[in-house]
Amino acid sequence: MQKLLNYVGGELVSPASGEYFENIDPSIGEPYSMIPDSGIEDVALAVNAAGKAFPSWSRTSPEERYEILMRVSRIIEENLEDLARAECIDNGKPLSLARSVDIPRAVSNFKFYATAAIHFASESHSSAGSSINYTLRQPIGVVGCISPWNLPLYLFTWKISPALAAGNCVVAKPSEVTPMTAFLLSEICIEAGLPAGVLNIVHGTGPNAGAEIVKHPGVKAISFTGGTATGEWIAREAAPKFKKLSLELGGKNPNIIFADCDFDEMLETTVRSSFANQGQICLCGSRIFVERPLIEQFCGEFVERVKGLKIGDPLETGTNVGAVVSEPHMEKVLSYVELAKEEGGTVLTGGKRADVNGRCSNGYFVEPTVIEGLEHDCRTNQEEIFGPVVTIQPFDEEEEVLSYANSVRYGLSSTVWTSDLKRAHRVAENLEAGIVWVNTWMNRDLRTPFGGVKDSGMGREGGFEALRFFTEEKNVCIAY
Ligand code: NDP
Repeated sequence: MQKLLNYVGGELVSPASGEYFENIDPSIGEPYSMIPDSGIEDVALAVNAAGKAFPSWSRTSPEERYEILMRVSRIIEENLEDLARAECIDNGKPLSLARSVDIPRAVSNFKFYATAAIHFASESHSSAGSSINYTLRQPIGVVGCISPWNLPLYLFTWKISPALAAGNCVVAKPSEVTPMTAFLLSEICIEAGLPAGVLNIVHGTGPNAGAEIVKHPGVKAISFTGGTATGEWIAREAAPKFKKLSLELGGKNPNIIFADCDFDEMLETTVRSSFANQGQICLCGSRIFVERPLIEQFCGEFVERVKGLKIGDPLETGTNVGAVVSEPHMEKVLSYVELAKEEGGTVLTGGKRADVNGRCSNGYFVEPTVIEGLEHDCRTNQEEIFGPVVTIQPFDEEEEVLSYANSVRYGLSSTVWTSDLKRAHRVAENLEAGIVWVNTWMNRDLRTPFGGVKDSGMGREGGFEALRFFTEEKNVCIAY
């Protein structure tokens, strides 16, 4: 079975312990490769390699960094099909999705931050004819990037590329559940000629490899995407060491549908915003609120569409719903369906492990599930499920739906469907969320600030926000 390797100091190396653990293909429920079980020694080697590379990498010009990051982007693009297939097998997502979303976005992330490096600028302030202040934005040093399993290469590169573009050296860890495309990225970086030690990738478990990156005194900033509980632990560990922190955490996003919306467009998008990637996107709208005059029509047509989604082998053309990422995750999602029933919910469709014949008969498939009849404040509607499960709740008034939407501890994204422009502005202003989409969903412009409020995290990624995060400001004041 293939053994993945860490990428340290420009080389592919085994973990210091020599220990590996199994990497499971969730669509067949069987191991297909081995993951390095890295720990404190591997992280120390990676931080050391990054520290050695930093003086020279941080002094390269933005143009030099642009050239090399563009090379990485081009090689990812040339290998799009292989990477998409690898992502599909590692994660369980439909190949069509990996091909159209995950890998193209990894290409864009490197391209975007390659060009951002040459456009990034700092401020200058002239003070009443006696002095001038200018702000230097200098790379921080060695930074840590830790990413989750739902959009593996997409989110991994979303962190690494701005960190490198800003002149930092990186120690990164992908999720142990989906390490394959991060491993393939290390091969791509070698081919692109990224200098040794500039990017180091350490594989392993969160509590072992991940926690050691957070704890290491040589790592000056942590960019983390993952669950709120892990984010809390990282914040507690990093705060006394005054590490810079960017935390992109969980969500429980509302999808608010007013009766005056464009019904067909809303319906089409709501099927995607509910079940794309098996509902395992932090931006999925898992709480659907429908204005009462539309509720009957919506429930009927939405459930029909959902029943028509094809669950099956992620490698097959035409599959809409692949496997969820792991057996424990499948059990977690199904336990929430049971909870919803206990809380008085009615399952309109789905609710069970899906039977998929042939090659995937032991895979971790969950039927897309739609539940109604729950109160906004029950556990099913308050806790993050992060799977193919949505609830539908009716509302009568704008104020009422805002109070439901804002009643959760999270505040990542939200979607509003209406043709009333004034209402769109009003509702957007009053939603407690870092991102509001009106009459669209997951419509991303990489220049915009990305992140959440409340327990969905702190800090913003995207555009120059990420370059600001990955640099330290220094003000220089010169009298004349
Ligand atoms: P986790 O928090 O379990 O893991 C995220 C990453 O952190 C993984 O690489 C994990 O490693 C690692 N990790 C786990 N424990 C520690 C630790 N103590 N110290 C350092 N690193 C650690 O999240 P999931 O992977 O389960 O991802 C799902 C979550 O991510 C959901 O809550 C989802 O909402 C959120 N998310 C948020 C996004 C956003 O932009 N706000 C985007 C996408 C997802 P390992 O996997 O090896 O345990």
